[in-house]
Amino acid sequence: MIIRIPIKSKAVVNASGPWVDEVRGNDVAAKQQTKKHLVHTKGVHIVFKQEDFPLTQAVYFDTKDDGRMIFAIPRAGKTYVGTTDTFYGEDKSNPTAEAEDKAYLIDAINFMFPTLNADVSMIESSWAGIRPLIQSSGSKNASDISRKDEIWHSTSGLITIAGGKLTGYRHMAEEIVDDVADYLKKHFKMNVKKVSTIDEPVSGGDVGGSVGYQNYVENISRKAPSYGLTLEEGFHLAMKYGSNVETVYQYAGITNDNHEKYELPKLLYAEVIYGMLHEMVIKPSDFFVRRSGKLYFEINDVLNYRKGVEQLLQDTLSYDDNARQQYAEELDAAIQDTKR
Ligand SMILES: Cc1cc2nc3c(=O)[nH]c(=O)nc-3n(C[C@H](O)[C@H](O)[C@H](O)COP(=O)(O)OP(=O)(O)OC[C@H]3O[C@@H](n4cnc5c(N)ncnc54)[C@H](O)[C@@H]3O)c2cc1C
Repeated sequence: MIIRIPIKSKAVVNASGPWVDEVRGNDVAAKQQTKKHLVHTKGVHIVFKQEDFPLTQAVYFDTKDDGRMIFAIPRAGKTYVGTTDTFYGEDKSNPTAEAEDKAYLIDAINFMFPTLNADVSMIESSWAGIRPLIQSSGSKNASDISRKDEIWHSTSGLITIAGGKLTGYRHMAEEIVDDVADYLKKHFKMNVKKVSTIDEPVSGGDVGGSVGYQNYVENISRKAPSYGLTLEEGFHLAMKYGSNVETVYQYAGITNDNHEKYELPKLLYAEVIYGMLHEMVIKPSDFFVRRSGKLYFEINDVLNYRKGVEQLLQDTLSYDDNARQQYAEELDAAIQDTKR
């Protein structure tokens, strides 16, 4: 069901990543003025247990055949490797890691780590994503396409930011806000200040910079036992939530044994509550896939605790059994995709 809500605004920012062309397609003016478009490429990562791929430090290396750069990174008892970079024209909302993507990465691993004898049966989980790149003429290889970002204006007030890299997100955010300020000044004589976010910590980032991070994590995790968590659990949470971690500890401290009702460990229960109250978690897949990444790195938590999490979300957010069933099927499909 589509619900249309009229919104009055002088400008609208379109930062919809791989979908920016679709959003521009809904704007008659932008459609007429469009010269540049996106081109999409797919990137796949694969995940191994540490015992199968014992790596202690992140490395990057080039593949034998096409010389592309590949990363192998240890994380929370796993090692993940990626990525591929191939043109993609299929369903953007559901890209999957196909056999040939996995074979490409396995070949690259065996080239760099010949004694590992990696094969697809060792892959524990995988995921695929879509890169929103700006089309340029003459790029035959996906990896040759520029990762630069650009801003496109439509006379309707739709301002699109496209392309770019994750590492440039703060710069891109500042760029687009400044652009909107200029637009409002020029067209509506509004006096809107430009922004400076360079010294603003992101949510959870108030940890004394990269220099202070390790100390911060060690100090704060000492508080965990007073909330009924172990030191190790406190450390694990502090690494993940940074300076937001005390809020998560507090939710662990006030469960009133509610976690037992849902047969969830206290730590997981606190993370779900935090997700609902601070990270817009509504569905089980919001939590397991997009917020915690457990689907990729802690698949056993998903399999062991999904029923409890589904019940907790349903009870708290009061949705009906049909919605619960639909969300459960969505999670089933996501679990299947990691095993393809
Ligand atoms: C496999 C892979 C590996 C990568 N590795 C790196 C890397 O190592 N370093 C790096 O810097 N970058 C990397 N990138 C690139 C990086 O992820 C992207 O450049 C970045 O995510 C783009 O950010 P964005 O906000 O423009 O788009 P997105 O992160 O895609 O966000 C767009 C959002 O808009 C939402 N949306 C879409 N349509 C609508 C609509 N109609 N209404 C409301 N919301 C909508 C989407 O749901 C999404 O949440 C990688 C990308 C992939 C796929």
